[in-house]
Order: sequence, then C-alpha cells, then structure tokens
Amino acid sequence: MLNIVLFGPPGAGKGTQSEYIIEKYGFIHLSTGDLLRGEIAEGTALGIQAKQNMDKGELVPDSVVIGMIGNKVKANPEAKGFIFDGFPRTVAQAEALDVLLTENNTAISGMISLEVKEEELVTRLLKRGETSGRADDKDESIIRNRIDVYNNTTTPVADFYKGQDKLNTIEGVGSIDEIFQSITTVIDAL
Ligand code: ADP
Repeated sequence: MLNIVLFGPPGAGKGTQSEYIIEKYGFIHLSTGDLLRGEIAEGTALGIQAKQNMDKGELVPDSVVIGMIGNKVKANPEAKGFIFDGFPRTVAQAEALDVLLTENNTAISGMISLEVKEEELVTRLLKRGETSGRADDKDESIIRNRIDVYNNTTTPVADFYKGQDKLNTIEGVGSIDEIFQSITTVIDAL
C-alpha cells in the first residue's frame, strides 16, 4: 500500500490534485472535508454538530475526524493506497493516524505539501465561493480564520512528518498539469 498525506492550506488545490492522483494511481481518496459535508447533507447528528465549527472556519474535534478516517481505512483492506486530503490537521490526528495504520499493517509513505502564499489563497477561495455554495468560502474574515488555524495548529503536522523524513514540498502555483507532474515525480520515487 502506498499512503500519501496531501497537505497544504485551504485553497492550495488539494482536492483538485487528489482527483488527478486517484485517476492515475487508483488510490482511495479520503477527504475529511468531503466526508463531513456528506454528513451535513444527510442531516446526521455528527453533521449538524460539525457544521457549527465548519461555518466559522474552526476545526471540528479530533475524535470526530479520527473516527471517520478509522472507519474508512478499516472498510478498505484491499486498497492499493490511500490519499489523505485535509487530514491530519493537528499533531494529535497525525499520531492517531500512525497508530491506525500500524494496526492495519501499513504506514504513511510520504507527505506532499503544496505551498501557496496567503493572498493567492484568499483570492482563490473567494472565487470558489461564487460557485461552491460553501458558507466558509463566502466571507473573507472566515477564510482568514481558516488560514490562521492552518498557520497556528496545522503547520506543526508538516514538522511531524519532517521528523520521520517523509516531507516533500511542492510549489502550488502554476498550471494544474505542472503541479500534477511535480506530484507524480514524488509519488513515483516513494
Ligand atoms: P479547505 O482545506 O479548503 O478548508 P476542507 O474541505 O478540507 O477545506 O475543510 C473544510 C472544513 O472542514 C475545515 O475548515 C474544518 O472545519 C473541517 N475539517 C476538515 N478536515 C478536518 C480535520 N482533519 N480536522 C478538523 N476539522 C476538519
């Protein structure tokens, strides 16, 4: 199994690049944001609770996302690999993911971190907000809150994987194809 953490701030292009990666490599895409929005769409208790955090640009509790990811990993023992998108977002989540993968006799192969400057992120997210229907893309102050949460709480996750010698950084500005080429170079070397 080849397991990749696709990392980067909100608006870095993780979702877009994940689609290209699953198409080429046949991995299973696990996006905690998508899973949470699925819960909201179904009106589950978990979704109703998570929406309160998400609409403000705050993280949902670690226990919630760790539980969702655990269920998906256990449900797919035959997967060629997983692409983790938007998870882990805290060091506690990263530690829990290591435990979970070890229990399933596998491990993270590498992290790919997409680097994009803050002003470009805000521009991209506001533009996405014109069509995404996402409450957290509509308002610049909520977007800036998401980026602050990333800078304060999520960036230590990159150091966590750097400490395991698994961090690969990629310039997240350029054409979608150029960025994807850089990603495939990293994946093919794992
Ligand atoms: P983006 O990366 O563009 O912000 P996501 O879809 O990954 O979009 O996340 C949207 C929101 O879902 C986050 O702002 C947060 O509230 C919640 N969320 C997603 N993944 C996690 C996670 N791993 N831990 C906590 N909250 C999460």
